[in-house]
Amino acid sequence: MIQQVYPTVNHPYTFELNKDFNFSAAHFIPSEDAGKCMRTHGHTYFVNLTIVGDALDHNGFLINFSELKRLVHDQFDHYLLNELPQFKDKSPSTEIVAQTIFEIVQAHLNKYDNKPKCVQVYLRETPSSYVVYRPKEIK
Ligand SMILES: [Zn+2]
Repeated sequence: MIQQVYPTVNHPYTFELNKDFNFSAAHFIPSEDAGKCMRTHGHTYFVNLTIVGDALDHNGFLINFSELKRLVHDQFDHYLLNELPQFKDKSPSTEIVAQTIFEIVQAHLNKYDNKPKCVQVYLRETPSSYVVYRPKEIK
């Protein structure tokens, strides 16, 4: 699996979990000034999620690692992102994809009694380009 040092987040929580996974998807940026990104093309996106919290569930988990992958991978893998409801009327740029991943993950985490929080989504689109999305406030 990926061995990489990611940017770190300052937070006051006792537990921090990081999950790596990837998915393959196509997209295009629907704008004349996006250059060749206007044409449909594909990426293998590498994701690292950072989840924090003070309380664990009955298994001793902040959140099950495999659940985090399933949440995002099952919705995005081998799709044309522009056709997905999550990107309706949006440009599926790396920034917007990272923000959307955050929203999906945090909405899911909110269902748990131990209240885990997503504090960072790292999304690598190419070997030389990545985006980090962090919520303004940890809620
Ligand atoms: Zn692209």
